[in-house]
Amino acid sequence: MKFLKQLFKKRIETTLTITSTNGFHLRPIAKFVNEVKKFNSTITIIAHNREVSATQVPKILALALENGESFTLRCVGGEAQKASEHLSSFFVRLMEDDKVVEEIEQEEERYEGSILTGQTIAKGVAIAPIVRVERVEQEGRHIGLPLRDAIVKTEEELSQLYKENRTKDEAQIYLAQKELLNSELFDKNFDNIDEEIDKLKGTAFESRIADYQDLKQRVLSYMGIKIELKLPDTPYILLADELLPSDISTIANTPIQGVILQKGTPTSHASILLRSEAIPSLIINKNSESEALAPNITRLKPSVPSLLDANSGNLILKPTENDLKKAKIKQKKFKEQQKQSYQKRFESTQTKEGKAIQVLANIADIASAKEAKEQGADGVGLFRTEFLFTETKPSLEQQTKAYTDIFELFDNITIRTLDIGGDKSLPYINIEKEDNPFLGIRGIRFSLQEKILFKEQLLAIYKAVGSVTPNKTIKIMFPMVSNTKEFTQAKNIAQTVAKENKIDISNIQFGIMLEVPCVIFALKEFDQLVDFYSIGTNDLTQYLFAIERTHPTLQVDATSPMLMSALETIVKQVNKPISICGELAGVEEATVELIEIGYDTLSVSSKLIPSLKERIRLSR
Ligand code: PEP
Ligand code: MG
Repeated sequence: MKFLKQLFKKRIETTLTITSTNGFHLRPIAKFVNEVKKFNSTITIIAHNREVSATQVPKILALALENGESFTLRCVGGEAQKASEHLSSFFVRLMEDDKVVEEIEQEEERYEGSILTGQTIAKGVAIAPIVRVERVEQEGRHIGLPLRDAIVKTEEELSQLYKENRTKDEAQIYLAQKELLNSELFDKNFDNIDEEIDKLKGTAFESRIADYQDLKQRVLSYMGIKIELKLPDTPYILLADELLPSDISTIANTPIQGVILQKGTPTSHASILLRSEAIPSLIINKNSESEALAPNITRLKPSVPSLLDANSGNLILKPTENDLKKAKIKQKKFKEQQKQSYQKRFESTQTKEGKAIQVLANIADIASAKEAKEQGADGVGLFRTEFLFTETKPSLEQQTKAYTDIFELFDNITIRTLDIGGDKSLPYINIEKEDNPFLGIRGIRFSLQEKILFKEQLLAIYKAVGSVTPNKTIKIMFPMVSNTKEFTQAKNIAQTVAKENKIDISNIQFGIMLEVPCVIFALKEFDQLVDFYSIGTNDLTQYLFAIERTHPTLQVDATSPMLMSALETIVKQVNKPISICGELAGVEEATVELIEIGYDTLSVSSKLIPSLKERIRLSR
């Protein structure tokens, strides 16, 4: 009977393909597992003739799925259909968002002392004695908890770290560690983990060993055994085979000048954290050339400084006077450059010729809004509201609160109404399956169908505008508008909502995302209707070049002359304020040209703001 029941349970299978050059690695796996757990179905992953639970990070990790490989996602029973649809689109987005860590370009430099070369993890120049890493066990100093309680405590610690760093790259590391901790591996004792570590040795996923060791140490520290790094209280360069992710925050609170690793990769979690702490770091893999490093170091006197120039990838154990002189100048210049752009981040920005450029932020929630403020955004150029809607539908009150909190932070905000469809779905709304969802019910087309949801969002925005200090510039932007009729319909609904609720919206502006190419040929008509435009280059590029933005192999050159020509055509025709909020606005090579063709407002992700502002100041 049980067998029959099982047999008749709804079973949906979908094939998903890894499209990230990094493969299906720990951080995206953790995010995926976190999403899988939201569904009441039995969900498994089938690949390489093995079927593993989609809630177990280590098991998925052990499948070692690489770029180009596919797996079957099997959802059985309960919400199988919903789970399959949601997880499939979630996976596509996950792959799209998985950034390739670009190799850091090194510059040429000549030194007199003998040189060891390596791969740069984080740029910068350090001059200090080298100290070899030493770990000491501090037993009995802490109150010991039983394993289960220690795991709960560690989980709380990782959740806190995740929350604190939500908008930064490193947040995913904490989420990944939390998911590993939740897996069966940590069920009974540490034997399973030690076995797993042994299995990973010599594989492509060897760098993940550090995460297992790190977790083990985090748990152990709550059990009363704390392994601490013995670190000097005077400036030093740290030499280690490898560092654990949790080591980085420890060393960052000491007079650390630089790090040399003898193992590892620039994509390891420790490397990501070294970059975010801006500690000059280099990997000098153990090889015949560097074999001599360790014995030489033990022979170095603690007072003798070595020179680590991560900008050129060089380590000079015994620098000459000339080397030191040169490095000090370089160090000063590098620090000044970094400091200058960061210190000047709150200042308004002008080019050398005096053209004022506004640098705004793309945000998604209160955490990213706060980060934008901290990074010096002149306002918000794109508030992607769909992230508030992903799991369950927020109530009118929840939406109003979320918008109010964000409106309070800035005087100038462009809020985009729900941009659902394409690669973004809502688990609680049934969008009919489309063969080409990017060419289907997306953005404003969706909102014009789901009027109740649309009207509620507009009302929440109005209420939020009403509860913050007056005189703010609030702009409401409709996504994926492809003709003037859609804009007029959307604006009519917005006016009706205001009338029905007796709200004065005369101070609110209405505009469109310019991301559908046909709009370029109707700009005259649009100009009569809209208050502003913002160009979504991510979608505009996909539709102009017929290359799906999530496509695994096809890519458009960010500064393609054809794209630039389209952007020039647009800016030259419109008489209403126009900005760019797609990824192109933050692309280093595009800044000068965008300003030259006439753009004066760029909206980018927060962490790019200080450097973009500096680039603008240096351009004509
Ligand atoms: C765009 O399309 O360029 C854009 C900014 O919007 P999204 O990436 O959210 O579609
Ligand atoms: Mg878009």
